[in-house]
Amino acid sequence: MRIIVKIGSNVLTREDGKLDTTRISALVDQTAKLRKAGHEVILVSSGAVACGRSIVRKHAKLDAVEQRQLFSAVGQVRLMNLYYSLFQDYGITVGQVLTMKESFSTRKEYLNQRSCMEVMLSNGVVPIVNENDTVSITELMFTDNDELSGLVASMMDASMLVILSNVDGIYDGNPSSAKSQLIKEIDVNMDLSGYIQAGKSSFGRGGMTTKSGIAQKLASEGIKVIIANGKRENILVDLLQKPQDTPHTEFVPAASVSSVKKWIAHSEGFAKGSVVINDNAVRAITGKVAASLLLVGVTAVEGEFEEGDIIAVKDSAGKVVAFGKSAYSSAEVKSSAGQHELRPLIHYDYMCLS
Ligand code: GLU
Repeated sequence: MRIIVKIGSNVLTREDGKLDTTRISALVDQTAKLRKAGHEVILVSSGAVACGRSIVRKHAKLDAVEQRQLFSAVGQVRLMNLYYSLFQDYGITVGQVLTMKESFSTRKEYLNQRSCMEVMLSNGVVPIVNENDTVSITELMFTDNDELSGLVASMMDASMLVILSNVDGIYDGNPSSAKSQLIKEIDVNMDLSGYIQAGKSSFGRGGMTTKSGIAQKLASEGIKVIIANGKRENILVDLLQKPQDTPHTEFVPAASVSSVKKWIAHSEGFAKGSVVINDNAVRAITGKVAASLLLVGVTAVEGEFEEGDIIAVKDSAGKVVAFGKSAYSSAEVKSSAGQHELRPLIHYDYMCLS
């Protein structure tokens, strides 16, 4: 999966505004684990301004723009420095992408940014994205980094956006009241206005209103969005490994909006080959929760196909249960069938049940 993780200023800073290096270190550990499990990760990290504020002692009287420029210039370096050395411990290289809202408005710049991040990912580099706060013009800024992370997720065709904040998700009442319950799943069309508090976290620019607006928009484009608490231990890994036991709010993605999926849905006639899967795998991919097809469930390969080709998925009786875009060639499937640790054969975003 390609996962975008947005880390809010409040996750990265302590109550006194100083950088929480222990927390950042924990999030780096988890990101390294996601990478090891075969996922591509892009971080959208806030915290430059908050970090700069705790480093610089202001001498002159500064207006709000000058403060943001000064603090972000200093804080961004400190932040990247920290990410750089923590990721180095895992042998992972990071790269910095500073962007502005204007860069998303023209197709040319949009594609240029996209290929920049694609080239980083394909070379094993973790992109760490932030707004270029030093030179962003106030009126043209992103509402906050939640908006930026949504744009990145959509541009990079991500499977999932995880927005890490300092609360567990969206509640059906005031989060500080014991009576309020965490809303586990939110539908694209659900009206949230009655639930969301207008207040925002103390160090970042964003609030739950922008978060949920962006999340619903992305979900309607078919991208899963999760809001979770970045201060919880092991949150990123737990969200993927045991989502049922991990507090969060999920914005359930709308089905079949991606053009790829539409293409696959009409692909019956041009499947290049097929795989036969065992009963467990049939149950997994046809169950209520969207699940990718893993190599571990494959028992046989028929015909020849290349990575990216459409293939049919059959049950042990030979009945076609799904079609999808294969992430491997037939030769690779043959040699790796039955293995656990590898990336899915067909990601659920690229699979249609028949
Ligand atoms: N770009 C800002 C920073 O790094 C954060 C914006 C936000 O809080 O959403 O400090």
